[in-house]
Amino acid sequence: MKHEPVELAIIGGGAAGLMAAATAAAAGARCIVIERKARVGAKMLMTANGRCNFTKDVPVERMLEDIGGDVADFVAPALRAFPPQAIVAGFRARGLKTRRMADGRIFPASGNAADVVHVFGDMLRDEAIPLLCNCPVTGIQRVKNGFIVGLGGFTLWAGNVLLATGGLSFPKTGSVGDGLEFARALGHCIEPCRAGLTGFECPPHPPARYERAQAAVIAGGVEVFRSAGEVEYETKGVTGAAVYNCSRFVARRNLRDWTLRLETPEGTSELRAPRMRPLKEAIVTIGGVSRGEIDPQTMCSRIVPGLYFAGEVVDIDGPTGGYNLTLAFATARLAVKSMLRNRLAG
Ligand SMILES: Cc1cc2nc3c(=O)[nH]c(=O)nc-3n(C[C@H](O)[C@H](O)[C@H](O)COP(=O)(O)OP(=O)(O)OC[C@H]3O[C@@H](n4cnc5c(N)ncnc54)[C@H](O)[C@@H]3O)c2cc1C
Repeated sequence: MKHEPVELAIIGGGAAGLMAAATAAAAGARCIVIERKARVGAKMLMTANGRCNFTKDVPVERMLEDIGGDVADFVAPALRAFPPQAIVAGFRARGLKTRRMADGRIFPASGNAADVVHVFGDMLRDEAIPLLCNCPVTGIQRVKNGFIVGLGGFTLWAGNVLLATGGLSFPKTGSVGDGLEFARALGHCIEPCRAGLTGFECPPHPPARYERAQAAVIAGGVEVFRSAGEVEYETKGVTGAAVYNCSRFVARRNLRDWTLRLETPEGTSELRAPRMRPLKEAIVTIGGVSRGEIDPQTMCSRIVPGLYFAGEVVDIDGPTGGYNLTLAFATARLAVKSMLRNRLAG
């Protein structure tokens, strides 16, 4: 029997890892998905309160504008190569019925996130892609012609590795930051992690939910950001899409002295630099593997040949509304396509 390395070890069976497996399978590449939890896609099941807003049907240029700044520049090649419309078409081709909201957000027509995860599960089964669950990767070592992937009691030899281990929020879903440690050990810089889309603490307020509200960030006496959408007062503070987008703006810019202005049918109120809810409760992690050390045209490490990245493990994030799953899918597809191109060139 001839022993050969697996061509691609995909570490993490979340949104990015599963899309990577789908891309590799379509090209006939020999890959394996390794997932620390007993099942894949745990975080995807939580998205949009279990409904999974998996992309937004808007032109890519509009999506990039909404993402903004250096992050938009970095993810542009991935998004242009796999725009939202192609993501929707891919799911539909695999039998998923979808529903488009008036603002372009796309959900499974059933309103059930499990249907999106099932598309990937069926694909893994149909394409006979090996899937190791309950199997946390414990370390990655670069060796001649590839990597040795540590899996607790045994090891796996892989020609290429894709790190798709997610961020740091909702650690019970498996996103505990292992990938950041692996990247660091392989020589990458990690940008400090903080909560991205999250709520704020506020003085006690009766529970209330306003669907058509506005939230704005005021800094230096000037309105520097505004988001329209839901504002909700809960026991733990104020949340909702408009508020989440403000938290992302503030966290990305590390603002200290600022004010959150909330405009709801009950009137306008202001909170002076309210405390953000913790990272473990956030929708997305800001920070992660530094973008400067990853080639945005390939998602390959500029430091370690054969090492690729996708999804939230990288210092990328977008606003609410399907942007973050879109980024996970698009960066994963670009990483695998680049790995395959490299194989042909090599
Ligand atoms: C409550 C909530 C609601 C959200 N709603 C939306 C939404 O509606 N639309 C949207 O676009 N985005 C939404 N998001 C964000 C979106 O879910 C994430 O951005 C996306 O899942 C990131 O994908 P990922 O593959 O990078 O990471 P993840 O989906 O977190 O997957 C990472 C995987 O890697 C595995 N892993 C980690 N370490 C190891 C290891 N050592 N060995 C093996 N496996 C490992 C984990 O177990 C996990 O399965 C939401 C997030 C949350 C928390």
